[in-house]
Amino acid sequence: MQPYSSAFKAIRIDQGPEGHRAAYVDMTEEELMSGDVDIDVSHSAINFKDGLAITGARPVIRRYPMIPGVDLAGRVTRSKHDSFVPGDIVVATGCGLGEAHFGGFAQKARLNADWLVKLPKSLTPALAMTIGTAGLTAALCVLALERYGLSPENGPAVVTGASGGVGSFAVALLAQSGWRVTAVTGRGQEADYLRALGAQDILSRDALTIPGKLLQSQNFAAGIDTVGGQTLANLLAQTQFDGAIAACGNVGGMELPTSVAPFILRGVALLGVESVRPRIALRQQAWARLANDLDIHALEAMTEIIPFSQALDRAKTIIKGAIRGRIVIEMP
Ligand code: NDP
Repeated sequence: MQPYSSAFKAIRIDQGPEGHRAAYVDMTEEELMSGDVDIDVSHSAINFKDGLAITGARPVIRRYPMIPGVDLAGRVTRSKHDSFVPGDIVVATGCGLGEAHFGGFAQKARLNADWLVKLPKSLTPALAMTIGTAGLTAALCVLALERYGLSPENGPAVVTGASGGVGSFAVALLAQSGWRVTAVTGRGQEADYLRALGAQDILSRDALTIPGKLLQSQNFAAGIDTVGGQTLANLLAQTQFDGAIAACGNVGGMELPTSVAPFILRGVALLGVESVRPRIALRQQAWARLANDLDIHALEAMTEIIPFSQALDRAKTIIKGAIRGRIVIEMP
């Protein structure tokens, strides 16, 4: 093995006397955390959690300093693990990246082999990052609804935070599976984008943010919620008898001001979805579903590719709900 030497650029978050600070820095491979596979990162992507980490808006970082970036793709340069050899193109999502272990907002990464997946031949690293944690989470939500036994015959589906990363994939995957999808958005100007992804109905975000009755008209058989808070409470109250909502996000808050009424009077189910450490079989099923159901045009329609030099500024805007679909970062 050659000694580590090369320097690389990264976005690093430090917690010092002047508080929480994220900046571009030069680092060396000696500073990387432990792991058995070294990767030249070619692409990453901006997720909501990266915006929270960079701005410090919520405490998602579990050690400092930290390189954010919960998703990354790139080429293996060294491997101490039998499963990977230099030259392999790999992808990693979740697994504590950008929270407890240095993540993808850097030209180099050193990770544990069991966090890595070899990229399917049908996907480029950029397309894999378009999917990333957002696509995986949406697919896990769809699978959760199906495991619960729901199908398009049961009635319409609803997606909140629809023009965001997870929401865009949720709309596209549900529509592709035959659901009539209502996309809930705070950005009316994105209606054409959402219709192109497969939404049939568009509902203003405001319709779900006002506290309502414990039980409301039964509008949806199924839902994927990225918002939480009052929005999720209203969705539960509008879910029809024996329906279910898959909850994965909290852009509208961590609290859930609901009652037991939807659960005990309508048999509504609330299905929690977590994408950081899903069972490996579930993760594989979700990736297969994404590769099968989404065509390249759908993926490209929801993607903007930016250079690494813009990543810091753009990541700050995601927590304001200012990003549409997915922003993929291309490393220099
Ligand atoms: P994005 O910022 O890309 O999307 C969120 C969308 O929510 C926005 O685009 C906006 O869509 C809408 N929105 C923003 N602010 C508000 C608000 N205050 N009230 C209601 N709606 C709002 O984020 P992601 O798609 O990356 O993530 C969405 C959520 O899912 C986050 O909370 C994230 O932490 C969570 N998540 C959870 C995972 C898990 O494992 N459980 C994995 C990945 C993400 P519009 O303008 O269309 O309304």
